[in-house]
Amino acid sequence: MSTSHLTDLIEVRGLEKSFGDQQVLKGVDFSAESGTVSVLLGPSGSGKTTVLRSLNVLETPDSGLVRISDASLDFGSPPTDKSAYRRAVKALRARSGMVFQSHNLFPHKTVLGNLIEGPVQVQGRDRDEAAAAARQLLEQVGLAGREDAYPSQLSGGQQQRVGIARALALKPEVLLLDEPTSALDPELVGEVLAVIRDLAAENWTLVIVTHEVRFARDVADQVLFLDGGVVAERGGAEVLTDPREERTQRFLSRVL
Ligand code: ADP
Repeated sequence: MSTSHLTDLIEVRGLEKSFGDQQVLKGVDFSAESGTVSVLLGPSGSGKTTVLRSLNVLETPDSGLVRISDASLDFGSPPTDKSAYRRAVKALRARSGMVFQSHNLFPHKTVLGNLIEGPVQVQGRDRDEAAAAARQLLEQVGLAGREDAYPSQLSGGQQQRVGIARALALKPEVLLLDEPTSALDPELVGEVLAVIRDLAAENWTLVIVTHEVRFARDVADQVLFLDGGVVAERGGAEVLTDPREERTQRFLSRVL
């Protein structure tokens, strides 16, 4: 199943992770080319979020390799020198942005304040440049003119769109989205999926954990079906319409 190419922007090899005596990931392998949308699907508890969080080291895998672009870390034999390890983690984190289930915006900061916090404080970018870039991103997510609003003045769907803009403000090479619509009221799901569709159309490299199977069918270049701690089936969007594996079939018949 390992079909990695030099052109792959993301490479994951042999990822293993246990919580206590529960081994959640038992050797997860996949790769993704630049400009593609990968969707992680699978039963609840199959480790989708753990894989996603491992990509930007919010979880530390027990072993396996993660590479994004030119930054990589082999968790099985990490640099023994602490500062070299920290540098490798930082390099990997700098290449991806994360959108969480619930947006986690700073409630006491305006929309603009939320968007420029990371670029200015973490990346040391110029405030005016960061603000101009943030306004463009707000336009991209359909929230032009809302820069002075506070999160509590926005709907859940608008807040999540700010969450996406905030992740993009850090200029990542890859955007990781962890069930970005699952905390939303049903009527607000569509507007967030529309923004993600636009990003896909603009050739952003996306990795998405979602239960929205119909959406996944529309946007996925690659579907990774996780089960039993491994990628049990991998393919294009046809995995969702014509799965080969019985466990994928069973899963889809439950959720569709
Ligand atoms: P999924 O996203 O597919 O629902 P997760 O990656 O969230 O699966 O979780 C996989 C398994 O690992 C679950 O059984 C979950 O309870 C467990 N798990 C995840 N994070 C932790 C943690 N920080 N501590 C203990 N167990 C965890």
